[in-house]
Amino acid sequence: MRKFLAILVCKLGRAVGKLIGKGSSMPGQFALKICPDILSRMQLPAHIIAVTGSNGKTSTVEMIAAILRADGKHVVYNEEGSNQIEGVTTMVLTHSTFSGKMKADVLLIESDERYAARSFRFFHPTEFVITNLYRDQLTRNGHPEWVYNAILPAIHSDTELLLNADDPLSSCLAQNHDKVKWFGVNECSISSKTPSGVYHDGAYCPICKAPMEYDYVHYNHIGAYRCTKCGHQKPETDYTVTSVDLDKGELVLDGNVSIQLAFRSIYNVYNILAAYAACRECGVDSAVAAGVINNFILKNGRMQKFTLGQHHGILLTSKHENSIAYDTNLRYVKETKEPCTVIVIVDAVSRKYFTSETSWLWDIDFSQLDCSHVQKVLLCGRYANDLAVRFGFTCISNEKLALHPDINEACESLKNNGSEDLYVVTCFSDRDKLLSNVQKEAQ
Ligand SMILES: [Zn+2]
Repeated sequence: MRKFLAILVCKLGRAVGKLIGKGSSMPGQFALKICPDILSRMQLPAHIIAVTGSNGKTSTVEMIAAILRADGKHVVYNEEGSNQIEGVTTMVLTHSTFSGKMKADVLLIESDERYAARSFRFFHPTEFVITNLYRDQLTRNGHPEWVYNAILPAIHSDTELLLNADDPLSSCLAQNHDKVKWFGVNECSISSKTPSGVYHDGAYCPICKAPMEYDYVHYNHIGAYRCTKCGHQKPETDYTVTSVDLDKGELVLDGNVSIQLAFRSIYNVYNILAAYAACRECGVDSAVAAGVINNFILKNGRMQKFTLGQHHGILLTSKHENSIAYDTNLRYVKETKEPCTVIVIVDAVSRKYFTSETSWLWDIDFSQLDCSHVQKVLLCGRYANDLAVRFGFTCISNEKLALHPDINEACESLKNNGSEDLYVVTCFSDRDKLLSNVQKEAQ
């Protein structure tokens, strides 16, 4: 009876919530009050895929959903991004019959890494993709090792882990776990010999703390690591990017699956690889997966194109407080060769909570913008002065820098001047302030 009531309340709550434009957490919250173990009483689909990690969750989940749907599977996933237990409960209950049977072939869950253990207390994923673990949202998450410890209790012995072989930290989740499949990128055109960035979180082994050595890296400390003492090293991969040409936008998986990249970023490469691995594990043919991934445009608008006056621009959205995401976006700008202006906006540090904590700006390798085709860098938003102090410690000459705390004013001045390409590096909440001033282009 409690189960029926919880499902009923959740369905009603969701219907009302949709009408009044409320989020998707509240109905689940009510259902959990009525029946705290409701998730263990549901009849769930045969495949439950979860995706967590510091970066790439939403993009990977979007791609997995598109591939599985192309394969004819009925997929339910948290499209609105509510990734804690309340949101997951809403999603499961609203897609179920009143007797508690979920109407789907696959339940796909983007899970908040900190709260995964709570979400998976009453059921567990059949496949669990962990994209990576690194510095992210300092105020909320502390350090990556702390997040690692928060994920551990979410892992059930029956769950098959799909892990990033190139990440020295999240790869440790394979310790004492039998069912593991690995994805990784071979040494190729994008690799370098030594870790990059202004700090090196992969300098010491996460298991025994001895110094680590690297055969190659693809970005920051992500690549082929080897502990000098305990043997922790990049494992053999089951799903592999065997070659990448970011200039041509070409990618080859497992030596024979060719992909054209809609967005030529190393980030995109890893998200594609993780999605490919998850779908192959669910029995999808490689040709079906490749067909969907080819020129796949993400719906989440992380790379929105726009025009402003005579300028063509690209919004490179990442999360604030996530230096590696910033670094890869700056690398994208560095590798374009046309003259351009870069706009860095930090107006609200987080859209979830208020913090004026800006120490993470010092973790970002802004010196990547010290190249001849970057003609100007506009520092915008409430924290423009913090950015200016940070940029004062790069080699970028002062003449290239301009301070515009007011985003609208910055857009106005660009609109009437010049026609060079624009790249905007910012987070989701701040990008909306820019988008209100520009003309969005269809993807
Ligand atoms: Zn070690």
